[in-house]
Amino acid sequence: MTNRYRKIVREINSFDLSGLDDSELSTYSLKFKEELSKGRSPEHILPQALAVIKEVFDRRLGIWKLFDADYSGQSQHQVLSRARSIVEGKRASVDDSQIHLDASFYRTVREMRQPGDGLTFMPFDVQLLGALALYEGKIAEMGTGEGKTLVAVFPACLWALSGKKVHIATVNDYLAYRDCAWMGPVFKFLGLKVDCVLSYMSDAERREAYKADVVYGNNYEFGFDYLRDNIKNRLEDRVQSKLEHVIIDEIDSILMDEATTPLIISGAPEDYAGDYWKFKPTVESLIERQAELVERLLREVQDCRDDRYIRLAQIAMADPWNADLLDYLNNNRDAHKKMSDIQSRFAAARSEYKLEEDLLYVVDEKHRTVKLTDRGIAFAEGRLGSGFLTLNADVPLQREQVRNFLQLLRAYVLYRRDEDYIVHNGGIVIVDEFTGRLAFGKKYEEGLHQAIECKESLRITAENLVLGRITHTNYFRLYEKMAGMTATAHTQAEEFKKLYNLEVVRIPANRPIIRADLPDRFYRTEEEKLEAVVDEIKEYHSFGRPVLVGTRSVEKSERLSALLAQHGILHNILNAKNHAQEAEIIKSAGQPCAVTIATNMAGRGTDIALGKNLHKIVIDNYIEYFKRKLKDGDRYIQVNVYSQFEHDMLAPHLRDFPSGLRIVPGFPSPIRALPAYAGTRVLLRPSLTIDFGLGLHVIGTERHGARRIDDQLKGRSGRQGDPGSSRFYQSLQDDLFRIFGREETVKTFDAARMTRLARRAQRKSEEMGYTIRKQVIEWDDVSDKQRKTIYRMRSNILSGNWTKADFRSLISEYAEDLISQYVNVDMPNDERNLSELKKHCLTDFGVRVKEPDGGYYTVEQIRKAIAEAFEKTCNMREHILGADFSRKLEKAVMLDVLETAWTDYLSFQSEFDRSISLRSYVKGNILADYRLESSKLFNDLLASIRRESLRGIFSYPLPGEKVDYIRRAENPEVIGKLLSANL
Ligand code: ADP
Ligand code: MG
Repeated sequence: MTNRYRKIVREINSFDLSGLDDSELSTYSLKFKEELSKGRSPEHILPQALAVIKEVFDRRLGIWKLFDADYSGQSQHQVLSRARSIVEGKRASVDDSQIHLDASFYRTVREMRQPGDGLTFMPFDVQLLGALALYEGKIAEMGTGEGKTLVAVFPACLWALSGKKVHIATVNDYLAYRDCAWMGPVFKFLGLKVDCVLSYMSDAERREAYKADVVYGNNYEFGFDYLRDNIKNRLEDRVQSKLEHVIIDEIDSILMDEATTPLIISGAPEDYAGDYWKFKPTVESLIERQAELVERLLREVQDCRDDRYIRLAQIAMADPWNADLLDYLNNNRDAHKKMSDIQSRFAAARSEYKLEEDLLYVVDEKHRTVKLTDRGIAFAEGRLGSGFLTLNADVPLQREQVRNFLQLLRAYVLYRRDEDYIVHNGGIVIVDEFTGRLAFGKKYEEGLHQAIECKESLRITAENLVLGRITHTNYFRLYEKMAGMTATAHTQAEEFKKLYNLEVVRIPANRPIIRADLPDRFYRTEEEKLEAVVDEIKEYHSFGRPVLVGTRSVEKSERLSALLAQHGILHNILNAKNHAQEAEIIKSAGQPCAVTIATNMAGRGTDIALGKNLHKIVIDNYIEYFKRKLKDGDRYIQVNVYSQFEHDMLAPHLRDFPSGLRIVPGFPSPIRALPAYAGTRVLLRPSLTIDFGLGLHVIGTERHGARRIDDQLKGRSGRQGDPGSSRFYQSLQDDLFRIFGREETVKTFDAARMTRLARRAQRKSEEMGYTIRKQVIEWDDVSDKQRKTIYRMRSNILSGNWTKADFRSLISEYAEDLISQYVNVDMPNDERNLSELKKHCLTDFGVRVKEPDGGYYTVEQIRKAIAEAFEKTCNMREHILGADFSRKLEKAVMLDVLETAWTDYLSFQSEFDRSISLRSYVKGNILADYRLESSKLFNDLLASIRRESLRGIFSYPLPGEKVDYIRRAENPEVIGKLLSANL
């Protein structure tokens, strides 16, 4: 793959454009546009076009730094001061892209610029490779700090020049704004319009922004705009441009981490506020009762009875986080294994006696569910009335109450304060599972949010009415072409291929990565682990090295922060709600002595550059330290060095060390032959061993369920060939081990074995993540088709070419509905009875269907009779109302009906989804059933849309008609408003 790309890169580099004046260079984009519009294939102009863009980068984002107000380099050269006065003079009246300088100016600057003066911005060859991968609609995997922002500009320009709208989706507003402003000069120089869509913008501003050729925006905004546009009642109110090409930055975060959370827009609250308060005492006593039970079981375990493993297994089902249980498991090495043996034995034997029988409910941590046992049901019904949970589940109100009750139970058992959510300003704020960030404005669905509010005794907020929902995946699939970039994709390459048909191309780093990824360290308990982490931070910190510590949750960052404070270590803690502020902190995380605690992906997208004097400061500190140690009596210090670069930085300082004492590099990793020290190595046992390293040190305080996320954290260090290191800490109490490593027995604490176990647990967790995402996608495919159908219907109505013929076909479709409802096709023709059908048409539509003569009707005859009857009424009404008004009325009614029906359907559907997903635990994969049932429901929805539309249209009062004659006008005010909106 990359070989083919390399050939193109050579071709790109064969163009030398440095001799062109700006005015000449800028004409190229016109030339390209022309050629493309004449039908020349884009591939044809590709190498030259990329060469032009490359040159523009170096000129406008490199050399033009000279004209920045804050540029500090000195430049007295005549050519430069002349150029500066030209630019400054013109800036007042025209945009930078209109200011053209000569080739001679650029030549002069190129001759005098120095490395590190910030005047060079020439895209690297590897960046061109990445650009080509994106251009072909693939995922370019490039490390952090490799300059992916720049890479995306190449395909975006090419596509925009060939007339496609390009969207570039970022993870947040801050990055959308930053990237747009930063890359803007390049687009503008080529005559392309670029803009960004930000969440605070008004519709008018958005509409304006979407007009640009290239639009930056955060992925949520793109999706929300799509949903919002599709509930608007006039096409001209829509803001979004056509969805053509999209480049997704941090694509793994968007397609994987966000895959299971749909984007939802919601409207006015529903009337029913829920019965949470009523159920609270019952749920609490249920939990107390189970806690007593667990106490009893624990006592039995401690009595060392023979059945203690059965009891343990039961406790694990009843309360997987029980502290005594975890302790016991830690201190009794075989317990895990014996316990899971028992579980599988019981499951396999299908014995009469089930483990859960003694419990009230069973907690499934993996699937985040709580299942009531028969005992639990009996207990609850004892308080709430018999049959409450089991009977009459079809009565809507009761179904709603049962849902409230079960969600409340989940809220108590599964959702942990300060881990899953925090209480803030009298409300619940969700803590994002992946980023550890506070997700303001996000709400748990399905009444869970309200349930948690009730548990915390807060005011219960209203549950919203869903007006539209779509998953990130399905939103991005609406584009003709999708490409993406990230530092971490290859571990999930197969999934990208299978689920999204996206290929991952690994692009080599511009300069080889020399970061040392040190082996993981393992501890029994969280406590011991954190202590060790603090020790390591202290050590690195004492040499002035910057340290970045990644934690899993806000709560854990705070705990660590408190520990560091106790040790007097100044640090920044990053759970900022503000991305811009977050970016500032993370940017300075590479300064000497900086200690930064961040949740897993906080600050994604911002690059950590190392402080200017960092290496010197760190080396001085180490040398100082060695000298002191030697003076204090250490005879032989072994220094582990992990890269040639670091060795070469340190070595010169060691030459004039006091004789008789040696410092010998140990080389556990990459460096092999270092002649100066070789051979002296094993003479003495070192009295002190120490790791020497430069650059940023990253500590992971826990392994995440997906290796990809760990890679993301590690990748913060060692950017652009910088030295650096990373290490992960794990304990047996980490979620990863507890949930996915259960059946393993930990006998010895051998690091290699532990690493294997951890990796196995991680693989299991990754598989589980994959399965869930796959399921979400497969299921969402079904609703995706439905959503598209509804949205298409709306757009057709709105697009203005709604004609009488459209209305006729609506009627004839409805005739089919009537036939299938009232006419029994299997009966002999002469026994068919049309009286029900006639009655229905008369009462609902005021339409009189005339029976065909002779009492003998074929289906065809019936069809004709219905059509004629409707046509007659329709013509009569149209004669009175006028054709124009009739069409307007039809449109207004249909829009209203569509909206009400669709929102009802959405809320009904999420409930249906859940009931199906409960069944799936019983029956395994039931996707086929789901498709079938869902499509049946959807067909019913379409039929009811037809019926309600006709009813609304035919019941609109004719002039002079008495109001009480209105049969059932659905929504008189809404229809009135829609009518006056002049569709
Ligand atoms: P990524 O998104 O891959 O993590 P960014 O796009 O944020 O990386 O860029 C990281 C840094 O590298 C930026 O400060 C940028 O200025 C710098 N950079 C990228 N490409 C080049 C280049 N060709 N020449 C000079 N600096 C570059
Ligand atoms: Mg980036």
